[in-house]
Amino acid sequence: MMDGARSALVYPWETPAEIGVPREVAPGIEWVRLPLPMALDHVNCYLLDDGDGWTVVDTGFDSRKTRALWDTALNGRRVRRVIVTHHHPDHVGLAGWVMAEHGAELVMPRTGWLMARMLTLDVQDRPVPETVAFWRSAGMDPDILAARLEERPFNFADAVAPLPLGYTRLVEGGTVDAGGRRWTVRMGDGHAPEHATLWSEDGALVLGGDQLLPSISPNLGVYATEPEADPVADWLASCVRLAAHATDAHLVLPGHKLPYRGLPFRMGQLTDNHHRALERLEVHLARPRTAAECFLPLFKRQIGGGEYGLALVEAMAHCLHLWHAGRATRRRRADGAWLWQAVSRRAT
Ligand SMILES: [Zn+2]
Ligand SMILES: [Zn+2]
Repeated sequence: MMDGARSALVYPWETPAEIGVPREVAPGIEWVRLPLPMALDHVNCYLLDDGDGWTVVDTGFDSRKTRALWDTALNGRRVRRVIVTHHHPDHVGLAGWVMAEHGAELVMPRTGWLMARMLTLDVQDRPVPETVAFWRSAGMDPDILAARLEERPFNFADAVAPLPLGYTRLVEGGTVDAGGRRWTVRMGDGHAPEHATLWSEDGALVLGGDQLLPSISPNLGVYATEPEADPVADWLASCVRLAAHATDAHLVLPGHKLPYRGLPFRMGQLTDNHHRALERLEVHLARPRTAAECFLPLFKRQIGGGEYGLALVEAMAHCLHLWHAGRATRRRRADGAWLWQAVSRRAT
């Protein structure tokens, strides 16, 4: 969701790096922006100079175009290691390709690696029954559901190069030496389970991935893979953990949008956005509604076609959070949709 954070944060670079053209953002660290074929039209990757080779942090969607952009951006430099912050295809997409091309090793959180391996191997020509049941449970618009039943769904394998077996695990509190610095690994959660963030020990830099974005709030979605999950709770808990380490001196290198300072303030926003959204949702659920009927209070605007899928999984996440927290009840409608209703609070 958009959250209007821009004014309160400091952006050392007013304009984004040109697509595919590395821009130095700190000694030994380059920002490489790659295109994405969706509303969020780019992803940020980073190149860290290790002296005897380079570490790449996140990799972009796999396409012929992004492979060519990497070749140009690297300009003959050898990549020895790929660090992936989390399993989403815009971050893990070309990891397997860089490994194959450069003989690089893969370093990422275990959950992310398992998810990426599992999802790339699970190729589906049509939505599986569990996915269809999940969409129904969310109250998906009948026309959109009917169209999706006849279409090949988004497949991880369409945007993620095959991942070889074997990787090195990033763990909470562990350290990584890269770009002439030592970094402490701290795990985020909620946007993706076990989302790695890297904090330089000199206190200057944070590689934030999608956990620490400026100006857009990371999508918190529930999927058929874990239909009862509560990623909003995971998100809020991880923000509290990470906020304890944030300082105004940190330059945050995020997975999308512009590098920024003002992380303590931003951490507050990244939790407050959801607390406010949950309060609006609770009011909206004075009468029973499906998740698909909750876009307006959550996003405060109409949702267009290309955003429908992400909006639906995020609406499910917020309804589920109220339910897990005892703030809402639910019952099945005849068509399989959950009808959520706020627990009426006693008047004071
Ligand atoms: Zn992500
Ligand atoms: Zn992303």
